[in-house]
This record gives sequence, structure tokens and C-alpha cells, in this order.
Amino acid sequence: MRQIFLLILLFIVGQWLVKALRRHDAHSAQRGGARTADGAANGASAGAANGAAGARGAGAQAQPQLAEPMIRCVECGVHAPKSDSVSVAGQAFCCAAHAQRHSARPSGRDAR
Ligand SMILES: [Zn+2]
Repeated sequence: MRQIFLLILLFIVGQWLVKALRRHDAHSAQRGGARTADGAANGASAGAANGAAGARGAGAQAQPQLAEPMIRCVECGVHAPKSDSVSVAGQAFCCAAHAQRHSARPSGRDAR
């Protein structure tokens, strides 16, 4: 009998935890919404961007603002963000080592 009581207690505590987590989520979402309203009131374009991110929820917030253009390494074929790439003689490489290896090879493109 006491075990059943314990189980019920555990159940209640679990429900409370879930509710607390939900409330936390709703609270942060509401805060984003409030910020959106503020941004709209101020008429700032940044506020509009924030609103778009806030409307999608936490999943959209995790994404970066813009996708960076990707380049394909001539040496190994790996795709790398352009800011991380090394460009030599109009050809893009994922790293300086591959650029060096590529230029060191006499007949540039033999493998791929
Ligand atoms: Zn490479």
C-alpha cells in the first residue's frame, strides 16, 4: 500500500517537473514575443528580424543568420566555408596544407 502511495507521489513530482519545464519554455517564448512587440513599436528592422526568429521558436534561434558560401577543396574535395578556405591561383582549398600539396604536385589534376 505504501508503495502505491510512493508511486503516486513520484507521478505527481514528475508532472510538476514537466509543468515547470513547459512554463520555463513558455516564459522564454513570451519574452521573445514581448521583445518582438517592442521592436515593432520602435520600427527597427532589427526588431523585425528578432520577431521572425522568435516566431519560429528556439529551433530557429539556434540557426546562424545567413548560410556562408561553401567552396570545394580542389585537393581533397571537402566542402569548407569560404572564410576558412585558402584560395591560390583561383583555386580554393580547405586548408593551406592542401594548397601547398596541390601546387607542389607537377601535374596539378591527376586524381580527380
Ligand atoms: Zn582539402
